[in-house]
Amino acid sequence: MIRKRSSGPISDPISDPSIPRNSRTLRVSLVALGASVAWVGCGGGEAPSDEPAGAADAPPQFETTEVAEGVYQFRWIGHNALFAVTSEGVFAFDPISVEAAATYAEEIRRVAPGAELAAIVYSHNHADHATGAEVLRDAFGADVPIYAHRNADAPLRESANPDLPPPTATFDETMTLAGGEIELHYLGRSHSDDIAVGFLPAHDLAFAVDFVSRDRFGYQDLASFYFPDMFDAIEGLLEIPFETIVFGHGPPGDRAAVERQLTYYRDLDAAVRGAVEAGLSEDETAETVLMEDYSHWDRYDDWRELNVRGMHRKLTAAGAGESE
Ligand SMILES: [Zn+2]
Repeated sequence: MIRKRSSGPISDPISDPSIPRNSRTLRVSLVALGASVAWVGCGGGEAPSDEPAGAADAPPQFETTEVAEGVYQFRWIGHNALFAVTSEGVFAFDPISVEAAATYAEEIRRVAPGAELAAIVYSHNHADHATGAEVLRDAFGADVPIYAHRNADAPLRESANPDLPPPTATFDETMTLAGGEIELHYLGRSHSDDIAVGFLPAHDLAFAVDFVSRDRFGYQDLASFYFPDMFDAIEGLLEIPFETIVFGHGPPGDRAAVERQLTYYRDLDAAVRGAVEAGLSEDETAETVLMEDYSHWDRYDDWRELNVRGMHRKLTAAGAGESE
């Protein structure tokens, strides 16, 4: 029921120091909406052509991509947000940053002129995704509500960051917005203990941040990650009947991408567990657990070793395997 067509390239910008310069140019399928234009924005540039970008072509700083009818991925450098135009207005996940949110507001106005911002939703409390709500409120109204999982509330109140205000309402297990056009799901602890997964049933589309992505290693040494809870959370994600999924980083994916992510963490756990049981130190484990089946994944060169070290620490901490 969703018509797709091949479209232009998306690649991580080389201007982002956290993005390796050898990031591959990636192609995604986008929804074509009759005569409307699927590519709805490019920061300061022309619409991407059907040719992959050459190595010398820096991708635009931001990009708004229609991923389903009325649903948009807003990418700012290496971070993705999602916003949806619903019967009750626009719902916007993750302002990303003060600077990003100013452009985010412009992009919402451009693709949905005249629409109200019905709510802001935090995928989780981490500042690199959630900062900037007040900028959106300055653009759309100071009383725009902010929704988040309950566990996001306390850390945000304690941090008292004016650029990252706490939610105005929270949920525990699930929350429905826009009369059910958007669902929020809590799947347990994963990358943090407050991840809200968005699901748009009419579009078979999900938005999940930081605990899953498409063929990409987990962030650095997985310090904030909860194992073995991660396995349950990813399995829970797969129980949601999405077909397309937008991630907090990198290109969109499908169910197979999430299954690969789950397999990766299972393989990492098993490999490091074997090294621990053989008595290997963290350094020895980092030198021998090379996860070569994943050498083609994004961030292999800089995060493979850190993922292995992080898992080793988790498995050797008190209450091995249950550590935070
Ligand atoms: Zn995070």
